[in-house]
Amino acid sequence: MPIKVTDFPKIKELLDATHGTIIVTTHTNPDGDAIGASLSLSGYLRKKGFKVSTIIPDPDPVFLQWMPFHDSIRIFSEAPEECSKLIGEAELIFCLDFNGLSRVSKAETAFRKATAKKVLIDHHTNPKPDFDLMISVVSASSTCELVYDFIEDSGDLALIDKPIASCIYAGIITDTGSFSYSCENERPYLIAADLVKRGVNGEQVHRLVYDTYSENRLRLLGHAISERLHVLPEYHAAYIALTKDDLDRFNHQVGDTEDIVNFALSIGSVNFAALFYDRGDEVKVSLRSKGHFSVNAVATKYFNGGGHVNAAGATTYISLEETVNIFLSLLPIYEKELKAVY
Ligand code: 5GP
Ligand code: MN
Repeated sequence: MPIKVTDFPKIKELLDATHGTIIVTTHTNPDGDAIGASLSLSGYLRKKGFKVSTIIPDPDPVFLQWMPFHDSIRIFSEAPEECSKLIGEAELIFCLDFNGLSRVSKAETAFRKATAKKVLIDHHTNPKPDFDLMISVVSASSTCELVYDFIEDSGDLALIDKPIASCIYAGIITDTGSFSYSCENERPYLIAADLVKRGVNGEQVHRLVYDTYSENRLRLLGHAISERLHVLPEYHAAYIALTKDDLDRFNHQVGDTEDIVNFALSIGSVNFAALFYDRGDEVKVSLRSKGHFSVNAVATKYFNGGGHVNAAGATTYISLEETVNIFLSLLPIYEKELKAVY
């Protein structure tokens, strides 16, 4: 098992000194790992007797809403005053699955103003100095893996019941594409096996996350692939650009575009794939790659975003066309690197 240098005992010291409310939060446009980590850590801390509020910046997709304890989530964008008050009164804040406070979107000011100590638990590169204590393990498959590690380090594995285990399991499978990337070492597999022992029904979780498309979501995927996919064989690259009209036509809901970019990457010769979609006032960028080609570097350098080596994202405030043009203009720069991926 890989050895990790972490500061888990320091979290326990902070918890020992905490008598008031703890806030658990995560990043904007939350994904399975973000929600799974937030709900599992919140559930665990409640079992330990703490008063916990789980606050997410904006709504999560419908395919994550089955998760245990989901009803307890407060959404900042829907109740900014109530959430700001809770954040202001908190004694301790856990920041999960992101590496800088700019990632909590409209909740950023409230979190920056908060007097509570902020603990980061995350697996993205280059964490910003926005936190009092940082558990930042880039080699971890997911933040959910780190939540499990923390509970284990605290000697509390027995507190992981089926609901908590299901949240952790969901985060691990969504951040590893069901064990197809970000799982180079045995740790996520061993954790998954232990979670199954603790009651997780792996097939059921998989179905709840992946087999709950609406008809519109599936048709949007079909449209994206048949009408909006551009393949650039000379650069081993492909991209999909969805206009606001495309999204409106298929009654786009939060999460409907998730995974579309992976279909562009599934072409054998493609090593770098991008999805761009126009949300009206901004353009969301999703980048994916194979092998050592770092989309995190591309997202950081050209789009003011970030993420992981093989999965990164950003938001631009220029037009869809201008955003795509930035992507096209940088392909020649990476031509050699993209050829050498395999
Ligand atoms: P996605 O393309 O699925 O939105 O995001 C892929 C990865 O990049 C996730 O780990 C996500 O947290 C990260 N990410 C997405 N958008 C941004 C962004 O604007 N800034 C940073 N720093 N990371 C992002
Ligand atoms: Mn994650």
